[in-house]
Formats: sequence, C-alpha cells, structure tokens
Amino acid sequence: MIKIRAFGGYNKIGKSMTAIEADGEIIITDMGADIERLVNFEGDKNYISINDQTALVENGVIPDDRDFFEKEGKNVKAIVLTHGHLDHVWAVPFLSQKYRCPVIATPFTIKVIEHLMRNMKVRSARMLSLNTGTKYKVSDNLTIELVNMTHSIPNSSMVAIHTKYGVVAYANDWKLDDNPTLGKRPDYERIEQLNKEGVKAVILDSTNADQEGYTFSESVVRTMLEDVIKRTLSNKTIFITTFSSHIARIKNIVEISRKVNRNVMVFGRSMDMYIKAAVSNNIIDKSLIPEVAIRKEQINGLLKYVRDRPGKYVILCTGHQGEKGAFLDKLVTGQYAYKLSEDDAVIFSSRTIPTPLNIANRSMLQSALESCNVNIADNVHVSGHGSRNDIKTFLKMLKPQHLIPSHGGMEKLSSMIDIGKELGYELNKTSHLLLDGQEITLQ
Ligand SMILES: [Zn+2]
Repeated sequence: MIKIRAFGGYNKIGKSMTAIEADGEIIITDMGADIERLVNFEGDKNYISINDQTALVENGVIPDDRDFFEKEGKNVKAIVLTHGHLDHVWAVPFLSQKYRCPVIATPFTIKVIEHLMRNMKVRSARMLSLNTGTKYKVSDNLTIELVNMTHSIPNSSMVAIHTKYGVVAYANDWKLDDNPTLGKRPDYERIEQLNKEGVKAVILDSTNADQEGYTFSESVVRTMLEDVIKRTLSNKTIFITTFSSHIARIKNIVEISRKVNRNVMVFGRSMDMYIKAAVSNNIIDKSLIPEVAIRKEQINGLLKYVRDRPGKYVILCTGHQGEKGAFLDKLVTGQYAYKLSEDDAVIFSSRTIPTPLNIANRSMLQSALESCNVNIADNVHVSGHGSRNDIKTFLKMLKPQHLIPSHGGMEKLSSMIDIGKELGYELNKTSHLLLDGQEITLQ
C-alpha cells in the first residue's frame, strides 16, 4: 500500500514537502519555505536563527510536521530533495535534524543546503550526495534514484522511489529543455525505462499546466539576451538582474557581455552564494565569473570606476522582483554613490512572480527607474516549468498509473487534472486532487 501525504506546495506554490509511504516506511521529498511569508517574517530582522523554528511553523513559513513527526517520525528513511530552490530546501536546517535519516540530493543542492546550515549555525545533517543516474538503497524495500531533469537551477532531478508496488515518481520542478545552455538535457531514456519497469504514481509540477504550448529552451533566452545587449547603445552602462540561482543564465550573461567587449561586475549576496556553490561543484569555471561584491564600500568603489567608464560595463545584480534590500532597490533609493540617468540601461532577465508583495515592489522599482530616464527592457526570460504540451510528452513517456498534481493552487492543479483527462486519467480513480494537509492511499 502506498500512502501520499501533502504537507506543502499543493494549495499554492512554495513550502514544498510530501511524505511518500510504502508499507510503513516513509520517504520525505523536499522541505521548502513559503517565500512570500518568509519575506514578511524577515521584516526588519537581520537574522533568522534555529530558535525561530516554532514561529516559522506557526506563521506558515515552513511546513508543519509536528504531529506527523510525533507519530511517524521514526519511520522516515530518507529526506530527498529535487533541486536547490529555496521553496524546496529552505526548511531543511530546521526540520531535517530530528528525523535521524540521510538528506539525499545532487551535489549542487547539497552545497546550497550546507550554506543555509552554516548561515543558521546549525550542525550539518547527514548529507548524502547522489548524482543523477544513480541509485541509493535506503532499506530492504526502498531504493531512491535521482533522474536528470532540466529546470532553472543546476543539478535538478526527479526523484524515483522504487517500491514493490512500482516506482513512485516525484517530479517537481522541471521543464523539457533539449538545448540547455548548461548541463544535460532530461534523461528521456531513463524516464522511458521507468515506464517499462512500472510506475505506480507521479506527483507532478503543475506550475504551467494552465499554459498552452511548449516552454522554450534556455538557448532561446541566450539569443534574446544577446540581441538586447547588442541593441543597447554603446555609451550606456548596462545593469542586468536575474535569479541568482539561475547559473546557466548568469553564465550566458557573462559570456555575451565579453563577446561585445564589455567587462562584467557581479553584485549581491545571493549571487555570491549560488555562484560559489556552482564553482565548488565545477559547474562553472572559477575564471569565468569575477568575484562577487557584497559589501557597501566595495560596491561604491566599483560603481565609481564604472561611472568614469560609460559603455564599458555590464553589472549583473540582484533585485529583479523589486525586493527590499537587494542591489537594485538600494541603488534607486540612493543607498549607493551612483545616480542612475539616461546613460544607464536596466535589463530584467526575469518575470515578476505574481504575489501582491512582488507586484507592489516591482511597480515601485519601475517608477523609480522611469523617473531617472533609464532605458528598461523587461521579461527577457523563459520559464523553468513545462507547459501543457511538455506535460503531455512527459506523461506519455512515464505512463504512471496514478497522476497527482502538485505545485500550484486549485486552478493549476485542476488544469493538470484536465490534461490527465485528455490522456485517459479519471478523477478520483487514476487522477487525484490532493491539498496541503490531506493524504491519499493507493492500493
Ligand atoms: Zn524550482
């Protein structure tokens, strides 16, 4: 008997955590934060520590596993993480220790978690680095396998849990990128083999289940970026902001900038964390990316240098959501010794994640940039999540017996149920709507 419990990531995007049980033995997949609530919780706090654990749970920032741990904690055999985005891993330092089982993830994801643990002064959990394409036997009855997928962060994987009832696949988050600009394409061969071995169920990323068509490859964004950088007048200083964890995008921005004879500077704390994790795993070469500036004096010194050399620099920076405290926010609010003007261009290689806070912050940032007559290019970006046609392709390859949508809210989960219906899945028989706090049993 397979039992699937949803802790987070089903009612809305964020706070992903699921427990998958086979005959009393449990695997937890992902342990993330609700990023919107995390930002609200942080407020003016400079620092969140392990002592904030209860408050974080009670404020809905991290999953509430207290009752579950009391009753079934001892049956958890492993915590497995799909990728290093904070809505999938941020809660690991708070929740993982008590389970007394390994935390399994790909090497880059492990580096991100180790960084989080160091930051919160938590001793490292029992980390187990597992490459995609390899398996790890966690008990006599359960084996974990990580299957290579493409997303918007390096080393992303689908978790395949091998049980005597067949494979239970946990596929959050992914897109099907056949021309990735960093890393390998998804392991289609292995996905098809899993189908032959028998897939009992899939828990599936529904983020873009309501989007028609296909999600474009990262190589398309590379072309877009090259176009927009080349078309920006040669006397302007370019600021480009993107997701700090999107190492492929960062690598492309640096390479394109150098190709058009511009030097690159990188500013921002989160850029520093993810770039270091990528360098230490040989995902990118250390010589490619300059040292990231994070201290105010250091950034001010570099900005002065840039101001005296118009048109010579691309500054890769944080702040694409207009978030408070990131580089762009500090720049437009006069916290650095650099005044933006019509001699500057700002490129958003991102899309605004549509939460009320982000929309408000981003709109304020936009007004501030416009009032300085900065040249703005927005949405030079493609999503890291597969759209309807990608989802159909994936389901036809994997052919799971049961389909369980995740990562969305009711609207997105319902769109996934509709896709399932087109492929012959029947609601409450072979496709199942699961919300946070609920569980289902598959015979
Ligand atoms: Zn993700």
